[in-house]
Amino acid sequence: MRYVSTRGQAPELGFADALLCGLANDGGLYVPAEFPALRPSSARTYVERAVEVMLPFVEPDLDEITLTNLCDEAYASFRHDAVTPLVQLDHRNYVMELFHGPTLAFKDVALQLVGRMFDHVLAQRGERVTIVGATSGDTGSAAIDGVAGCASVDIVILYPLGRVSEVQRRQMTTVTASNVHAVAVEGTFDDCQDLVKAMFNDAPFRERNRLAAVNSINWARVMAQTVYYVVAAETFARPITVSVPTGNFGNVLAGWIARQMGAPIDGFIVATNTNDILDRWIGHDDMSVRDVVPSLSPSMDIQVSSNVERLLFEMNGRDGGLTAEQLTRFRATGRLSVEPDQRVAVLDGTFRSAAIDDPATLDEIARLHRSCGMLVDPHTATGTAAARMLAALDDHAGPVVTMATAHPAKFPDAVERATGVHPALPEHLADLLERPERTTTVAADLAAVEALVEQLTDP
Ligand SMILES: *Cc1c(COP(=O)(O)O)cnc(C)c1O
Repeated sequence: MRYVSTRGQAPELGFADALLCGLANDGGLYVPAEFPALRPSSARTYVERAVEVMLPFVEPDLDEITLTNLCDEAYASFRHDAVTPLVQLDHRNYVMELFHGPTLAFKDVALQLVGRMFDHVLAQRGERVTIVGATSGDTGSAAIDGVAGCASVDIVILYPLGRVSEVQRRQMTTVTASNVHAVAVEGTFDDCQDLVKAMFNDAPFRERNRLAAVNSINWARVMAQTVYYVVAAETFARPITVSVPTGNFGNVLAGWIARQMGAPIDGFIVATNTNDILDRWIGHDDMSVRDVVPSLSPSMDIQVSSNVERLLFEMNGRDGGLTAEQLTRFRATGRLSVEPDQRVAVLDGTFRSAAIDDPATLDEIARLHRSCGMLVDPHTATGTAAARMLAALDDHAGPVVTMATAHPAKFPDAVERATGVHPALPEHLADLLERPERTTTVAADLAAVEALVEQLTDP
């Protein structure tokens, strides 16, 4: 498989190079030159289906045996034999639990595999990289856990001092692997993100330290997520609707790709919180940036969703020049405009959306606890609430699957507020609050952070 940039100016790459480089050098995102059709399956397990679905995307750089080994190891870290089990809520609604990985958020499904892919490709090439990233919570711990102990990778994650929850911080600072470095920055999440960008923009520093990224624009993450959409859809005798709690649009995009490959999915419900730019775009053709408002579902507190670029590229008939132009205008004016016929071709009929605010999120958590005894986290609750609002209007009434993106114990305060029940951490994390922490604090200053990165990763 070859990969092309959504902005049309970067060189075509194979899978391994697209994996390692993340962002294309024209500022675009890599996408496969085509979406291969799903083949009839002989798979019995999640891993077997994962290999069938992903193999066309990774050949010839990874062969079937290598991919199987990487998937076996990645998904052995999940605490459920089904990897992503489906649970029934009522006669029509289901959730697919994506949170049985080591850090209790759906990002593990991709990052447990992508971390191992990095290590494999780097070892083959005799290279090392330093992954740097900024986190406001979930991504950092999932990225750390994905590469902890990998021989060819160091990872440095910047988080804002005092501004992540205790569970989230401890999931980063209690990892004992020597290639893992959690760093508290005296500043905000935006400061952390700016520092990471500045390190990537410092070319001598970037090259000397072989910087790499595993943020949600990395194609391999989207690819790994297509698998559970295929698995969900193939469970039912008729096509499903999927509701997805959405931030950077990576998860929904993975579902759309599964549908392009032939997975029996009627359409998608894009669930947002009060940060509703995607709801305004899908419902009212209004993609205009507003300030980010903190909510009960912090991993969805996003205004500009980076993976929308991949869908835009498709709406533009894969015209990279047009996509680049639109995004330049978007950056300058804060408003994205798309021709009506382009919208109709990709969005209409396939995507619907709803914005669920904090009170509605709490109501939904309470309702599910009453109606089926289940505790759901606030992100998942936006998805089930949106599904209930919109799917009720359908006439065909097929199954609706909501993607459950975090374990309730990751957001215990909101769950307890809604239900009066404090969700317990699963057994493997039960002693998280007693484990010793290892972290370094640094000023929000580029020179100080760069010096620290070099010191921490010095062999
Ligand atoms: C990251 C995250 C999301 C948003 O996923 P995107 O792929 O960015 O849309 C939703 N819920 C949880 C719990 C997350 O960690």
